Amino acid sequence: MKMLPLMANTQEFGAVVIGYDDVARRKLQALLRAEARVTVAASQPLCDELRALVAKHHIQEVSVEQALSQQEQFPLVILVEGEPAQLKAQAMRLKAQGRLVNVATYPEWSNVSLPYLIDRHPVMIAVGSTGEAPVLARIMKARLDALIPRSFGRLAHLVHLGSERVKALFPTLKQRERFWSQQLEGAAGELMLSGREEQSEQLLSNNLATAESQVNPLSAVVGEVYLVGGGPGDPELLTLRAVRLIQQADVVLYDRLVAPEIVDLCRPDAERIYVGKARSDHAVPQGDINQLLVELALQGKRVLRLKGGDPFIFGRGGEEIETLSQNRVPFQVVPGITAASGCAAYAGIPLTHRDHAQSVRFVTGHLKDGSTNLPWSELAMPAQTLVFYMGLVGLPEITRQLIAHGRSADTPAALIQQGTTRNQKNYIATLGTLAEHIADKAVEPPSLIIVGEVVSLHDTLNWFDPEQAGGSQGFWQRKH
Ligand code: SAH
Repeated sequence: MKMLPLMANTQEFGAVVIGYDDVARRKLQALLRAEARVTVAASQPLCDELRALVAKHHIQEVSVEQALSQQEQFPLVILVEGEPAQLKAQAMRLKAQGRLVNVATYPEWSNVSLPYLIDRHPVMIAVGSTGEAPVLARIMKARLDALIPRSFGRLAHLVHLGSERVKALFPTLKQRERFWSQQLEGAAGELMLSGREEQSEQLLSNNLATAESQVNPLSAVVGEVYLVGGGPGDPELLTLRAVRLIQQADVVLYDRLVAPEIVDLCRPDAERIYVGKARSDHAVPQGDINQLLVELALQGKRVLRLKGGDPFIFGRGGEEIETLSQNRVPFQVVPGITAASGCAAYAGIPLTHRDHAQSVRFVTGHLKDGSTNLPWSELAMPAQTLVFYMGLVGLPEITRQLIAHGRSADTPAALIQQGTTRNQKNYIATLGTLAEHIADKAVEPPSLIIVGEVVSLHDTLNWFDPEQAGGSQGFWQRKH
């Protein structure tokens, strides 16, 4: 069965729901949501909920005979009550009269169906199915629903507000569309979606004023930078906001710690700029990255700065947005799941635990010239979990110092390679043995070190099977 989705203005023609039970109530509710002109008919007393709904909305009731026979009054018939044989016969008769018929639970006898609705007034998405696997429609609806912000419909305020000025400014539909796309998917739209309505309207108005004063109005638009945490690797760990911004960016700057599958979520026409760093091999110096972000945004582009994990945890995200702020480039920051959370979760190692660790510390293991300027005595204190980022090279020094400052050599310790990806490997040992344990293993970066009694829980809590994982294959090779 093939279907053509149509949107019906049900205020203009009448619908009747024939039924008395909860299914009838749900159908009625769907029609009421569309402000349909709707009537109810039933051969038995209505169930309590349906009766309450009918009373609340002052809905007219007619007999089943009237509902079936009054062709002009009820062109849309929702059939709920009746034995299958009777329902089928009624549906055939109604369809022969040229009426639209929906038979609850029997899509094969219906000629219309009521889809699942994602309502972001004045825009909506209807998700329907051919009736073979309606559960898929429900799942698809739930997924889309989660992706589209509740406040999406509020963007219509902006269109309403600016439509006259935009029409005056841009003679062709194509230009108008380009302008609106820049506004609605740009800073003004973002402000509206995040509830800063006045600022959003002000920005649109300013942008229009600037455009009005230019010979080429389209060149007046300032872009925006999205500093987005891409999480530790598995694309499913992205936030909804991250996915949305990734998909609307015109240009993306990413580095080695962003899984390729995540960069692939960008629009096919988005420009991709690799600014990756391998240890002590800075592909693009930080200052140049900061400057590039500013330049691209000033060209009117929506610039995505995609970082591994969380941009504010050992990510130099702060420095990048400082430059933006000095240059008055609008930006927003989207947190990501940091490597410590991702690796710990996917290795079955809770970072805190009432019996083992009352605190957790994220420490950089990138020791300048092998120096030892970390507060080792603090780090060696018991009942805390330590997570070392960038610690592979310094591992022998780190473990040696912790033991020298009093942490027991028997303390469980783990090294997690490429956490949350299909390449994840967990090396579990103790503070005393970890460095030696991994010495002859070809550990592939990035990797994270976790030290503390909580590591012992890995034995029982390990759940993640990288071979079965659908997410990311791993990371960019050193030479990208
Ligand atoms: N901003 C990032 C960290 C950047 S520092 C975040 O919040 O996660 C880079 C270090 O993070 C790497 O050297 C490594 O120690 C760690 N790291 C990042 N992703 C990782 C992963 N998938 N598995 C293991 N360690 C990871």
